[in-house]
Amino acid sequence: MSVAMSIVDIAVSRLNEEGGARVMKVNVTVGELSGVEAGAVEFCYSACAMGTAAEGSELVIERVAARAVCGECAREFKPDNPLAICPQCGAFGGRIVSGEELYVDNISVE
Ligand SMILES: [Zn+2]
Repeated sequence: MSVAMSIVDIAVSRLNEEGGARVMKVNVTVGELSGVEAGAVEFCYSACAMGTAAEGSELVIERVAARAVCGECAREFKPDNPLAICPQCGAFGGRIVSGEELYVDNISVE
């Protein structure tokens, strides 16, 4: 809920910076490892936007898959568990290279 609220806040402040009348569309990037449930944000967004200049705007979420690189053998893999165990050599603690993103990409105003 608070994430959806923050997205609305960011969208409205960018709208003010750009001098538009209302927000039409908001693009957000959410990584699998960001701890944010994209579906829940989508669900809350329109309610949070109600009564603001972002009311009725479209929220477009781009999901970024989790990827890690093994520190031992440099293999890139999908970290399916918190330890990020390498499927090739069994080492753990791979370096996360994507999936932690959480930001507002851009907004369209009218
Ligand atoms: Zn490895």
